[in-house]
Amino acid sequence: MQAPNSLSLSSQILALADRCVKCGLCLPHCPTYGLHSDENASPRGRIALLQGVTEGRLAPDARVRKHLDECVGCRRCERVCPAGVEFERLMDLGRRLPGLQATSRWQRFALRLLGKPTRLRRLHRGLRFLQRSGLLGLARASGLLRLSGLSRAARLLPPLPAPAPLPHPADDRGRRRVALFTGCLGGTLEQTTVRAAIRVLEAFGFSVRRLETGCCGALAWHRGEMALATEQARQQLSAADEAAEAILYLATGCGPHLQRYAELPLDESDRPRAEAFVGRLEEITAFLARQPFPAERFRANDPPLTVAVHLPCSQINGLRQQDTAGELLGHVPGLRVIPLADNDLCCGAGGEAMLRVPQVAERLRSDKLEAIARTAPEVVASTNPGCALFLNAGLGHDPELPVVHPVVVMAARLDEGSGWRGTGSG
Ligand code: SF4
Ligand code: SF4
Repeated sequence: MQAPNSLSLSSQILALADRCVKCGLCLPHCPTYGLHSDENASPRGRIALLQGVTEGRLAPDARVRKHLDECVGCRRCERVCPAGVEFERLMDLGRRLPGLQATSRWQRFALRLLGKPTRLRRLHRGLRFLQRSGLLGLARASGLLRLSGLSRAARLLPPLPAPAPLPHPADDRGRRRVALFTGCLGGTLEQTTVRAAIRVLEAFGFSVRRLETGCCGALAWHRGEMALATEQARQQLSAADEAAEAILYLATGCGPHLQRYAELPLDESDRPRAEAFVGRLEEITAFLARQPFPAERFRANDPPLTVAVHLPCSQINGLRQQDTAGELLGHVPGLRVIPLADNDLCCGAGGEAMLRVPQVAERLRSDKLEAIARTAPEVVASTNPGCALFLNAGLGHDPELPVVHPVVVMAARLDEGSGWRGTGSG
């Protein structure tokens, strides 16, 4: 494996930062600048902070770390920058600088755990027991959760579904085959979404192989934990289904990092596999929107349902992908599909920003919750489960107004479906 040395790291950072012409056009588009009206909380200010630390003019102290940490990684600045500054790439490199690496032992443990689906399933069972027995509520009421620093994470949790085995692949004969990358939470919190995705793909005529191989490594990568991120990428590459015509992923938050696999510091022997992986990779709604729509598989006489489509930053700024979810849902009989108001603003979730800088994340989320109230849908569809988790927590896990993946809404309207409320929102 190539280990980048600090000299090449500094020159990479300075080369990327030098592209910023300090025009300030990005400032009004940055949600954290909007909150603080402080240059240090803007893209231009953060670039200047990274330049200062890299050149040794500025100490990487708590103040600098706070301003960098408060970036929610929405990449809206990249979309509007006339000089083409690759802001996310710059921040990822910056977090590897000595003094700016801020991953605690506990965070490293959590990142590692996300790559272990079996252990996550055990943890899910344990948490479900605590939730159902009332012990979690007791720990919250007694202040124990706050003392352990876990109260915010616990508040994000919806009522946990019982872990159930996911379906085996349908018969391959006469069918095109795709692989479904289910991510870190596919076997636990996101099992409803995975089940729905399989049913929808099968209705479109595909046979589906699940890749339940844990975290893609994006969270570790953005924390500057390169070795762990590379190990998690290698885990995905070694499990990839060579016979599948496409590798589909469910979370747009994973997409930009999965697309980066061929650029990771892998062994040379892994590189052809990484290139083949990236070449077959596609976000599930983008893939389905390109296929002939099997209208005959959907119920035609269900009551109408108003679905607001939330566009995650990872989709519009990271993947630069159009509203493929809205396009797809628009074909489903009986759905009234509308865009969520203020769709180009970040909901605050920002990967693990919701846990890292909760005050910032929750202020951004409150604007998004107002936008949901103004749009007045019956269900919100989002292609990023991280955003859905954070918005659902903000809505108090309201079963009357869930935020779910678009495939959950589609699966519930399939001929053998039972109505979307019956499918849950996990
Ligand atoms: S990041 Fe881009 S838009 Fe922002 S100040 Fe620099 S050059 Fe201008
Ligand atoms: S990624 Fe988003 S929050 Fe971070 S500097 Fe750019 S616009 Fe601001």
